[in-house]
Amino acid sequence: MAAHPPNAPARLHALIPAAGTGSRAGTAQPKQYEPLAGRALVLHTLEALGGVSRLASILVVVSSGDSLMPRGAGWQVAACGGDTRAASVGNGLAELQARGAGEDDWVLVHDAARCLVTPAQVDRLIDECLADEVGGLLAVPLADTLKAAQDGRATQTLPREGKWLAQTPQMFRLGVLRRALAQAGAGVTDEASAIEALGLRPRLVAGSAQNFKVTWPEDFALAQAVLESRKR
Ligand code: C5P
Repeated sequence: MAAHPPNAPARLHALIPAAGTGSRAGTAQPKQYEPLAGRALVLHTLEALGGVSRLASILVVVSSGDSLMPRGAGWQVAACGGDTRAASVGNGLAELQARGAGEDDWVLVHDAARCLVTPAQVDRLIDECLADEVGGLLAVPLADTLKAAQDGRATQTLPREGKWLAQTPQMFRLGVLRRALAQAGAGVTDEASAIEALGLRPRLVAGSAQNFKVTWPEDFALAQAVLESRKR
């Protein structure tokens, strides 16, 4: 990537954390490499992002020693994954900057495991966030009734009004996001929560329930069915 000259317009980059082990998925290899509709799950994610013409670059973060990540012309790979998702994203942001991205460039962080995202959804996020002071994320309003639980029993029903399920991509300015993640520490499970901890309010952009994160063993069959239905 070319270095970012001062005063140049902000560019958009996708950062794909793919350094997890996917222990909840019950697969022998990390879930992002499981075959899905004929190829590795992460290749579906990369194909969707490759269809977003406004992205200047796509950087995939894998763990050191990862030999499974496919190489291709449309994306770069950095073996700088950390022990947590937040660490992998933080390292990836530093790598993006080292490769020429600017402090004011937008970064769209997207889970490798959300392989059903579509270019249209990402374009909607960009359309709604480009002129926003903070940035935002794809999310869906909570449909189910929400329970607090202890020892496998419901202790309380929490109001679902005004509650959203956070998805990715999450789109923020590189410099602000780096500082937010450094302050928030390793425990945050998404970028927006680190931004919120700065007192800022990320914009919620309506996504789709189909943009779920492949997490549990049964999610693979569901993701495959969605991919096949789109081909028909
Ligand atoms: O584990 P989970 O499904 O929440 O991970 C979300 C995304 O973050 C996945 O794409 C996974 O590969 C990535 N991740 C990472 N580094 C970690 C843990 C998760 O890049 N240490």
